[in-house]
Amino acid sequence: MPTDTVSPTQRPKYIFVTGGVMSGLGKGIVAASIAKLLQLDGFRVTCIKVDPYINVDAGTMNPIMHGEVFVTDDGGETDMDLGTYERFLDANLSKEHNITTGQVYLDVIEAERRGEFLGKCVQIIPHVTDAIKESIRKVAVKNDVDVLIVECGGTVGDIEGLPFLEALRQMRLEEGSSNCLFIHLTLAPVLDAVGEEKTKPTQHSVQELRRIGIQPDIIVVRSKRHISDESKKKIAMFCSVDMGSVISDPDAESIYNVPETLHTEGILNAISEKLHLPKRPIDWNNWVQISRSFAVPKDEIKIAMVGKYVTLADSYVSVNQALHHAGAAHSTKVKVDCIESEDFEKNPTILKRLDEYHGILIPGGFGRRGSEGKILAANYARERGIPYLGLCFGFQLAVVAFARHVCGLNAANSTELDPNTKHSVIDILPSQKGIANLGATMRLGGHDIDIQQGSIASRLYGAKAIRQRHRHRYEFNQNYMELFESKGLHFSGFSDNRLRAEILEIPSHPFYLATQYHPEFVSRPGRPEPVFNAFIGAAVSRKRPIAVPTAGSV
Ligand code: GLN
Repeated sequence: MPTDTVSPTQRPKYIFVTGGVMSGLGKGIVAASIAKLLQLDGFRVTCIKVDPYINVDAGTMNPIMHGEVFVTDDGGETDMDLGTYERFLDANLSKEHNITTGQVYLDVIEAERRGEFLGKCVQIIPHVTDAIKESIRKVAVKNDVDVLIVECGGTVGDIEGLPFLEALRQMRLEEGSSNCLFIHLTLAPVLDAVGEEKTKPTQHSVQELRRIGIQPDIIVVRSKRHISDESKKKIAMFCSVDMGSVISDPDAESIYNVPETLHTEGILNAISEKLHLPKRPIDWNNWVQISRSFAVPKDEIKIAMVGKYVTLADSYVSVNQALHHAGAAHSTKVKVDCIESEDFEKNPTILKRLDEYHGILIPGGFGRRGSEGKILAANYARERGIPYLGLCFGFQLAVVAFARHVCGLNAANSTELDPNTKHSVIDILPSQKGIANLGATMRLGGHDIDIQQGSIASRLYGAKAIRQRHRHRYEFNQNYMELFESKGLHFSGFSDNRLRAEILEIPSHPFYLATQYHPEFVSRPGRPEPVFNAFIGAAVSRKRPIAVPTAGSV
């Protein structure tokens, strides 16, 4: 698509996205939307997330506190914003696109141990900041981009973010101000009593940025509604940017509408001017078709997501997005109710509340707490003919439910939940035995899967082989394969030369399918992942059963 891209002497250009006032404003969505606009404008572009926490990667963090762990094809356990970038850009990113303080320090300290600093005192400036700049530039070069967007995690003013911001400040000096741009995202709250948006928090957070030597070039202001010209003027004046560089970013019906909103506000103009990028009309064709598909759906279905990390919307963001993509393909709004699985353990009679749902989904998870409730829900979906989709742990617990309730193996379990179980229908992967460290040690990332012909999965995928992402330590114990098959549960996808079962399906059920892999990570707007698409299709049919034509009606 690129026509006259940036002249080689000027590339790559860098756009740094910082956040002020508070977290949770949607910095990832703004960064991804800007990247999308540049991509639609014909530039080669990609994104990086820098995260100021000391964890080496997101893999050891609890999703309920930090949001989902997004898995890249190359096996990185990364920040959930990488998922947003992949979905907006329709491109696979690698783990190098997520840089954490922990990783940078680990590299620097290991280099120090190898004696690479030749007797020097190793310091944050220049050694840590140099390492940060090097990791950023490496991604730009490796991906051969015209523009690299770097989203800086956290909020300006956080102590832990300082080395990153300092590194970015230095980069602007080194690369030149026409090659580096700072975009600052803030919030303009509206106080009910006053009814007007307030610009003071924006002013203060820009002051905080300036204190460390960074003057933002563009300010994106999150708010409930579009901010007034009056507020824009105020922000421009107090923060020393021109009016055209104050961009209003109101709440959107769908995140996929944000690129258009930012474009209407003139963000691309402001970026092109400051970075001396060629200006040309955007080719909206495909994207508009995609973003419009999320508008005002005809119908609504309700999905029960049964789990334990379900209270924070971000802990399953890719699952929610995959449902959203599939819903759009069916012109249906998908309302997801999060249901705490432990409640079923305390009182199994409330399982019947699941009857009012059009589908039941059990996502990935770990550990014993709440697992018995999930097993009950997986079994209930099977018995009651409610469409069921199980993802990773949801696959494993569907196996346990089937073993107990159909195969008569009452004591069946996963060895993760009961190491001494008499029937270990889910057992530890041989490669996982003896691993003590928790970080980055699971079976991770993309693996090829062979799909059995004639199966439901083969109909859905329309392919003999697929590639999907993984994050697990346990798997189906194939010693039980024959028994399961004889009782009507069919395994239809395998990896590593049939060594691992990857897909299960119950052909006699309206829709009962589960995957050992995580299909949610590869779903894209406009191109929903096939099992999600089929699950939503089945849920829609549960709501609106297609009338069987009576004799003579045709
Ligand atoms: N706890 C299970 C395992 O490690 C499932 C993991 C997951 O759902 N991501 O195999």
